Amino acid sequence: MQTLKSFVRGEWVAGSGSPAELVNPATEEVLATATSAGIGMASALSFARDVGGPALRRLTFAERGELLSKMSHAVHEQREALIELAIANGGNTRSDAKFDIDGATATLMAYADLGKELGDTRFLLDGAPAELSGPRLSGQHLRLPRHGVAVHIGAFNFPAWGWAEKAACALLAGMPVLTKPATATALLAHRTAQLVVEAQILPAGAFSLLCGSAGDLLDHVGWHDVVAFTGGSSTGRTIRSGERVLREGVRVNVEADSLNAAVLLPGADDSTFAAFLRDVERDMVQKTGQKCTAIRRVLVPASELSRVRDALCERLAGVTIGNPALPEVRMGPVATRTQQRDVGAGVSALLADAQVVFGDPELVRPVGVAEGKGFFVPLLLLEARDAMAARAVHSHEVFGPVATLLPYDGTVEQASAIVRAGDGGLVTTIYGDERDELAQLVEAIAPWHGRLVVVDKRIADKSLPPGTVMPQLLHGGPGRSGGGEELGGVRGMALYQQRTAVQGNGPLISKLLA
Ligand code: NAP
Repeated sequence: MQTLKSFVRGEWVAGSGSPAELVNPATEEVLATATSAGIGMASALSFARDVGGPALRRLTFAERGELLSKMSHAVHEQREALIELAIANGGNTRSDAKFDIDGATATLMAYADLGKELGDTRFLLDGAPAELSGPRLSGQHLRLPRHGVAVHIGAFNFPAWGWAEKAACALLAGMPVLTKPATATALLAHRTAQLVVEAQILPAGAFSLLCGSAGDLLDHVGWHDVVAFTGGSSTGRTIRSGERVLREGVRVNVEADSLNAAVLLPGADDSTFAAFLRDVERDMVQKTGQKCTAIRRVLVPASELSRVRDALCERLAGVTIGNPALPEVRMGPVATRTQQRDVGAGVSALLADAQVVFGDPELVRPVGVAEGKGFFVPLLLLEARDAMAARAVHSHEVFGPVATLLPYDGTVEQASAIVRAGDGGLVTTIYGDERDELAQLVEAIAPWHGRLVVVDKRIADKSLPPGTVMPQLLHGGPGRSGGGEELGGVRGMALYQQRTAVQGNGPLISKLLA
């Protein structure tokens, strides 16, 4: 059985002590173990800071972009073997696995292209020069890499894309990365990282991998460092309120839970309606609903409720649940036994406000697995009795294949009030063809979100699913979602850069920065 080593101080290091087991969630076979005990967090961070940082800062954006392009190729070349790992350790179907792995390589490539675009310079100008008192006296804002380590802590659901998207932004900005994937599904994160290390693409110290728990890692961060976390809200709160993090004023970015909504507006064209059904079904099934961006709340005009319910039930009835290694299976298990328990408990909470309209909370019959084995959960569509009063639906994220229909009166006012009850989210998708209503709804709910997707009949057949996080656009959200911002092209690099205003003799400053 494989023991996952960490890559720190430029070498592979095994942890000590009692390790955590990584299992196949469909069969419960133990695949690997990992522990970070005794790794030496302080020296791992200082090696990255002192060796990796200067090496990266010497490179231009174009040169850093070239490194990202090589990283993308190194991972992509092993795509087939990586898909097998994701199926085995993540409970992913082949399609789920591709989503994660291709998301990783595409995001690295997008930032590689951005590096090429930014060219042969090492800093970014932030806005135009500001004239202070005549043309002689002016100021210019600059953005330069922070002289610390980008500490990345990832969630279990995207072991490849999760680390790659954070690393792409940080490395292009010029900061070394120490990435700590979630332990339960770390096999894929470890292998993708190993491919990058083996290819000797990055300068020494620019990239470190920590397998196993975070241990005392965050007791050694300083104000130059950045912590970017993805995971549950409560872990996010623990990280944010760490003694060292608070004392040093460490910059922290949190990507957490979200009760993403899909809003069907009245009078949607048939093609818009079809896109709505397609997206709701995909988000319930893809990755067994374990996507931070998955649609959890489905707002439907009351007059359309039975049509939507019937159409969704028909589509969900065609989903085969079981061992994701089988080609006919469209939905695998959730990643861990804890997740399985959490989904069960979450569904019980939602049932206080809703009833089941598809599936059976007590019954799941997976194909291709031994009786009683695996962390399978049923595919469930619920329907709230009173959309506004359904408190659990607006406050409890069930991280699994569960969504709730929320009937509303068809007005923008009520739709926006229901969406806003989710208390801040990553993404909401609006399906409609009435321009005024679309505009009103966008304005009413945008401050509650990091991203809105608007689907109308002209783009219905080619719109990207809301769960596909694009490197060009922001990922993150306010409130419940943690208040973080990632990606968004050059915006995502700001987390890893210090903005400084340089003020003085305008022509001289222009020459210094040329
Ligand atoms: P989690 O339990 O919060 O764990 C996330 C990461 O934090 C793991 O790497 C975990 O390590 C680490 N961790 C746990 N306790 C820590 C501590 N005290 N100090 C430092 N690190 C610590 O979340 P999860 O179960 O992996 O992920 C599910 C949640 O993530 C869902 O709620 C989902 O909504 C959210 N999520 C959000 C996004 C987004 O972009 N907004 C994306 C994906 C998932 P170990 O694994 O070693 O315990």
